[in-house]
Amino acid sequence: GEASSASSGNTNTVLPPNTSTNTPPPAKKTPNDFIFGKLLGEGSFSSVYLAKDVKTTKEYAIKVCDKQHIIRERKAESIRREKEVLTILSANRSPTAPFFVHLYATFQDSQRLYFVVTFAHGGELLKFLHKVGSFELTCCRFYSAEILQALRHLHSIGIVHRDLKPENILLNEHGHILITDFGSAKIIHSQQQQQPSSETNNSESNRTRSNSFVGTAQYVSPEVLKGRYSEVGPSADLWAFGCLLFQLISGALPFQATNEFLIFQKILKLEYEFPTGFPPVLKDLVEQLLKIEPSERLGAKDEKLYESIQKHPFFESVDFEALWQEAPPPIA
Ligand code: ATP
Repeated sequence: GEASSASSGNTNTVLPPNTSTNTPPPAKKTPNDFIFGKLLGEGSFSSVYLAKDVKTTKEYAIKVCDKQHIIRERKAESIRREKEVLTILSANRSPTAPFFVHLYATFQDSQRLYFVVTFAHGGELLKFLHKVGSFELTCCRFYSAEILQALRHLHSIGIVHRDLKPENILLNEHGHILITDFGSAKIIHSQQQQQPSSETNNSESNRTRSNSFVGTAQYVSPEVLKGRYSEVGPSADLWAFGCLLFQLISGALPFQATNEFLIFQKILKLEYEFPTGFPPVLKDLVEQLLKIEPSERLGAKDEKLYESIQKHPFFESVDFEALWQEAPPPIA
């Protein structure tokens, strides 16, 4: 938690300087460098605005967090984590997996913290899913392939998202995905040698202060529910990926109930059913991903990430390295 951070010794800043990565922080800007436009959306402790760089006229999304609110809601750790992960990701961009919001700058004034990130013109993938109800096979294949390509990169640099869901998958102006919301992420290791971060590997970091799990009920993996935090790794995202595949093609979630407790029971018993008409090839893939045992999930033992998932018949026609330069299929 917060107490163990002590990385700066500076008690005045909500976000301590990032000492646990070797990546330089983005250059300092100020709110005056941007013209703030419309409100794009609101989170529980942040507001996201469309903004224009005064000099370049380039558009960005700026996430504005109220410091008082962060402290009141005990969200400092989550915000710090989000900044750390976005900084690592932004310094380790993959040309064939440019599927993450990029962090361009951070700054603060006396009351607020600002994160300048890629503006996702399309908004949330969930919005499109709600619009059409469920995706056709081609559409489902394209978006799930991009998500898998993103996970390959994310996991290769030692980051587990832990809250993968269609609300956290945004779309850019061309319809490609931009994964966001790294406030629940876990850093397992970094490509570069770095000082071990006192906050990233302790078991407490897997739970919030209120002692509830991180993530979202419907997508949470059995190992997280069982509190087996030493087992929580990249496979937790593979579980969520299985839930997501199920959701994109059917419009429904595999584990759904009237309250979280009942959802958790279903997850722990692997109690779910495929609706009639569920494509058999996708059913096979989902079944191989939704395994209670993390190491049994398809891809979990891959030497080369995630070769065994890429080779599944569902993805037969997909050139994963070329997705980023393909025109996405119309959402239908
Ligand atoms: P919470 O913090 O409660 O989990 P959240 O993660 O959705 O919610 P934010 O990250 O502050 O909170 O995002 C608020 C809203 O702004 C989201 O609903 C999202 O649709 C929108 N949004 C966030 N980032 C961007 C972006 N880069 N481009 C466009 N819209 C964005």
